Amino acid sequence: MAVTKVWIEEGCIVCNACETACPEVFLVTEDTCMIRAEVREDGKETENSEEMSPLKEEFREELEDAIEEAAEGCPVEVIKFETE
Ligand code: SF4
Repeated sequence: MAVTKVWIEEGCIVCNACETACPEVFLVTEDTCMIRAEVREDGKETENSEEMSPLKEEFREELEDAIEEAAEGCPVEVIKFETE
């Protein structure tokens, strides 16, 4: 399996847990969490809940475990992802 897409829904409480679990993907700011530009096909740095940009191919398998771990560890369950 591989993660094809990851995004943040509304309600992030900026606890930093996801960035600790997977700093390659998650960037916690003052008021929300972003999906880093480096791992996205569209190269934008946003929550990705509107763009729904896929992850770049080279990261999909490599970062799967860390993304799943981050999603499980999010206290308000706003990290969502799709797998293939
Ligand atoms: S773990 Fe969840 S609540 Fe905490 S910073 Fe990340 S997205 Fe926000």
